[in-house]
Amino acid sequence: RKQIRGYTIRELETLVSNYGEKPFRAKQLYGWLHVKRVNDFDDMTNLSKELREKLKEEFTIDPLTLATKQISNDRATIKYLFSLRDGETLECVWMRHDFGDSICISSQVGCRMGCSFCASTLGGLVRNLDVSEMLSQIYDVEVDRYPDGEGHISNCIVMGMGEPFDNYDNLISFLKMVTDEKGRNLSARSITVSTCGIEEGIRRLSEENIPVTLALSLHAADDSLRSQIMPIAKSHPLDEVMRACREYFSKTGRRITWEYSMIQGVNDTDEAADKLVYLARQMREAGCPVHINLIPLNPVKERDYRRSDEDSVNRFKKILEKNGINVTIRREMGGGIDAACGQLRNRERRKRL
Ligand code: SAH
Repeated sequence: RKQIRGYTIRELETLVSNYGEKPFRAKQLYGWLHVKRVNDFDDMTNLSKELREKLKEEFTIDPLTLATKQISNDRATIKYLFSLRDGETLECVWMRHDFGDSICISSQVGCRMGCSFCASTLGGLVRNLDVSEMLSQIYDVEVDRYPDGEGHISNCIVMGMGEPFDNYDNLISFLKMVTDEKGRNLSARSITVSTCGIEEGIRRLSEENIPVTLALSLHAADDSLRSQIMPIAKSHPLDEVMRACREYFSKTGRRITWEYSMIQGVNDTDEAADKLVYLARQMREAGCPVHINLIPLNPVKERDYRRSDEDSVNRFKKILEKNGINVTIRREMGGGIDAACGQLRNRERRKRL
């Protein structure tokens, strides 16, 4: 059976008219799927039994089944592992902040970008997630957290497994649906899309008129070090990526975030900080201000990288600050529960190998 949650309102209209129903049935159906978010056609009480039976024969609603859930000691972070219909798994993370709840969702099962410190890429790309699988991460976690609708998720970061621009069309359909006023109605401004630096994706996104925040996983401010830790950098030089970032800012007016995962002895030296200062300044002078997030590496068992110690992180941060660069150290959440990108799925994978 097919998945109905990824259908746009137009597609639902075509569907119901093929069943010989009036177009407004599509709106009702859409409301059940994206506002009430029921997972059973029989709960759609204003649709006729006959229509519900037809829908049941052809479609399923929720593509995800909860497999495991890990709750951090302070209960502010919960990591979810979901099974998909084909037996694959995906992970997402719910976090409570002072500004509200946020969720970090995956865009692919696995990843083919090959970043040398990241667990998602072990085993390569398995497949893209479809729109319903992306939406359902938000819906299911929200229902799990707030079964009576007494709260909601206010921020979404597409920073879980996968490279969102490697699944571009589904990403855009997802963004359009999740921000739809008649659907889940999440504000585009509270969504962040994170890329390892695919300039074509950055450029295309800037044309879509969906004002999300763009995060660039930089991790090194020169091509040679960057290529060493991120193979994708060999075919996506910083010059090109920076040009795309400037275009993104000039078209959207949205300030870009640079993610910088700190690896001991690799990208946390004074020299690396100086290069980062230089690049950030160059961008500012070109009219594109950036904000830098320093994230102490979450070590992955299969890799021999270590996390920068606290002193190195602070020292690095001071160099940036002294030079007037906007920087924050991202408070680590969920370290104890394998919450970094791909780690929970990887643990399950390891068990199977
Ligand atoms: N492919 C996208 C989004 C997924 S990765 C991207 O590259 O941006 C989300 C972020 O987590 C990226 O900045 C990535 O570099 C970082 N990351 C991955 N594994 C990590 C780890 N073990 N420790 C710290 N950060 C990690």
